[in-house]
Amino acid sequence: MHYTGTIWRPPYEATSLLLEVTAGCTHHKCKFCTLYNDLPFKFKLSPFEDIEADLKEASVIYKRWGGFRSNRVFLTGANPFVLSFEKLMDISRLIHKYLPNVKTIGSFARVTDVTPKTDEQLQKLHEAGYDGLTIGIETGDDEALAFMNKGYKASDIVTQCKRLDKAGIHYSFFYLTSISGAGRGEIGAKATAEICNQLHPIEVGANMLTIYPDSELYQEILHGNWKEESEIEKYKEIRTLVENLEIPTIFGALGASNAFQLQGELPKDKKKLLSILDEIIDTVSEDELKKYRDSVYHL
Ligand code: SF4
Repeated sequence: MHYTGTIWRPPYEATSLLLEVTAGCTHHKCKFCTLYNDLPFKFKLSPFEDIEADLKEASVIYKRWGGFRSNRVFLTGANPFVLSFEKLMDISRLIHKYLPNVKTIGSFARVTDVTPKTDEQLQKLHEAGYDGLTIGIETGDDEALAFMNKGYKASDIVTQCKRLDKAGIHYSFFYLTSISGAGRGEIGAKATAEICNQLHPIEVGANMLTIYPDSELYQEILHGNWKEESEIEKYKEIRTLVENLEIPTIFGALGASNAFQLQGELPKDKKKLLSILDEIIDTVSEDELKKYRDSVYHL
């Protein structure tokens, strides 16, 4: 299989076949992000022959093992959904040719990857198997989105995800705890809950901002332009998010950036999640949480 640089995938794609169709990110401008800094280029589309060779290899393993643990392919790279409708359809045809049991195809996607596709194209992509996108919306706080160079506004998240809803393409969100900065976490959490409550994410997964020296955000901090929340504030922020989510969804905080792993179904588990968060806020010290943060050497 062809894999380039560090391969990132959401926790729930652990049993999906990881197929490299792109590497890197077309945007590559978010101030906090160092995810693809190990690549010598910004973004690359894999040659079609490489994708086909990987699918051939996977089909041999599939036959030998009598199947995979899931009938799902996850396309790697920060935003393969940016590819044109035609390219995505070609990739889907190739997947179904070599792995006829595959039912769905997922990937990371940016909100702006959805924008240029027509409603009819989104519908056809859904029929071709595209489902279960993971969108790193990060926040619904417009001030933070602008400062961090995310390249869209909260209203774009709502507009484009409503189009995905209409096409039947399901999606999950990544939320970035602390993106709003010191003193603004609860504002960001409330703004995010407000947009989520208008949409239908399968899951809202929280990751906690961990700042690395090779990020642009680190320089902003050195220049006094931005201040990080305390670790306790980050947990208060998550609490506000959970408290204000009113839709049926899964809330998760499972990645390595979270000192405590949490997951629950909303609204059923809301009380339980809030009480765990209260316990963390009341009993864990800032020093202990800071020690954990300092040990997260790479996300
Ligand atoms: S956060 Fe996502 S969209 Fe932003 S630069 Fe990193 S990979 Fe690209």
